[in-house]
Amino acid sequence: MSEKTATLENWATQRINFAQISPYLNNMRDFICETEIEGLLRSQTDVPASCVHDIIQKALAIETLSLKEAAILLNVRDKDLLSRMREAALAIKTKVYDNRIVTFAPFYTGNLCVNNCLYCGFRSGNPAINRKLLTVDEIKNEIEIIAGSIGHKRIIAVYGEHPESGIDYIISTMSAIYNTKIRTKNNSSASIRRVNVNAAPMQVEELRALKKAGIGTYQVFQETYHHKTYESIHPRGTVKSNYRWRLYSMHRAIEAGIDDVGIGALFGLYDWKFEIMGLLAHARELEKTFGIGPHTVSFPRLEPALNTPFAKASKYLLNDETFKKVITVLRLCIPYAGMILTARENASMRRDCFSLGITQTDASSKIGIGSYSQAGCGQKGNKQQFLLADTRSLDEVVLELAQDGFITSFCTAGYRCERTGKCIMKLLRSGQEGKFCKLNAVLTFREWLDDFASPRTKEIAENIINREISQIKSMMPDIFPAFMNYYERITQGERDLYF
Ligand code: SAM
Ligand code: SF4
Repeated sequence: MSEKTATLENWATQRINFAQISPYLNNMRDFICETEIEGLLRSQTDVPASCVHDIIQKALAIETLSLKEAAILLNVRDKDLLSRMREAALAIKTKVYDNRIVTFAPFYTGNLCVNNCLYCGFRSGNPAINRKLLTVDEIKNEIEIIAGSIGHKRIIAVYGEHPESGIDYIISTMSAIYNTKIRTKNNSSASIRRVNVNAAPMQVEELRALKKAGIGTYQVFQETYHHKTYESIHPRGTVKSNYRWRLYSMHRAIEAGIDDVGIGALFGLYDWKFEIMGLLAHARELEKTFGIGPHTVSFPRLEPALNTPFAKASKYLLNDETFKKVITVLRLCIPYAGMILTARENASMRRDCFSLGITQTDASSKIGIGSYSQAGCGQKGNKQQFLLADTRSLDEVVLELAQDGFITSFCTAGYRCERTGKCIMKLLRSGQEGKFCKLNAVLTFREWLDDFASPRTKEIAENIINREISQIKSMMPDIFPAFMNYYERITQGERDLYF
């Protein structure tokens, strides 16, 4: 074994702190009970339609469903009931999040990784990948494009698991991102206002440091909730092979004060129905333990990746129709949660899915390392994790959303006004958060249209803005004058005014 490999292995063995898992176990068991989930999926078939209608009503009242109720929905095959579920999914999204779609950019900081996940292009055993970790200067260059040319205000910074991209690196990159201030072509100020982080599970002390550094949402995807499958695709001896270290990463985050957490499963690794039950069990467990559920749920589909045969060969890959059912049922199961659909999906699929209750999406995305500032490297480079299906610009996506009646929101106010955790859960369930979001969506959309939109997108989007302003006037007469004051100031060049 080389000295370098020995050092890496030594580092990896010290990552997991068992004392930070055991307090959450129940009689040494975790909260994913396969026998229970499989039993429910087997038994809850062919229930009366009235029972399905009752479950839909519960979801429409923004109540988290039980595992049994989820199993019933997952087994619905009747066309009318399925169509009712789809309608309810959109109704729930509109009730909680109105007609807004929040947008963000994925930002891959590097591709060094000690793990060897069979499905991932970045796995340590993949010799076809060029390894690269961005320096602070390179990060600034990327942000200049993301915030200064495209106009994003929030990003999800993505990290491999490696000593060189550990907590100190993550914090230095977050600070570089927040501190990069740019002048746009019409001389307004632009910057990233919210950094969400997708990184490996961390220790409580590291999570406290992340909180201090101003993290938005902390995301960790369980990949698969099925213990045996998890074991088979995360080779023994790697840090990631410890299922429970990952399963309880959100518990540790909340314990450390990060009350804005995102869960997810990678669909295509195991049975999709099981994964939905797993995600719901996770949300319920967080609600039970902390009174806080996940702020977002992600459900990426497994995509082809360079020199990664597993990604194409998995027997659990989902077709488009099934994937739409995943979104519909998840929307009903965890009705208050934000739901993220990424550019892994192609344009027409994305358009269909927006009407099933999606709340967040990315655009103008590049997932190669350093691809935003090095034109051309984005989709072809051998530095990226997998391949994107929708490479449209943010301007094109905003235009399409506007044509479909959605307003693109660049709002990042929530966490800056401490509307997170229990506070946001209450506001979301009662439909109150929508009020602030509506105001901030219009203000941030105005900023983006004036700073970055093409003439065509701007023209179409004006109708949306005008419609929103008249709704604000009639729905919130008390706040309307203050809102208009901010709105006018933004049209005159001021930036970052929010409620
Ligand atoms: N390394 C960290 C981890 O694994 O938690 C975070 C970054 S990883 C690059 C982010 C996510 O990408 C993973 O959690 C996984 O769900 C997803 N991913 C990995 N390989 C993929 C593939 N071939 N297609 C789609 N998504 C993939
Ligand atoms: Fe590393 Fe994450 Fe890819 Fe696994 S999924 S190889 S941990 S980057």
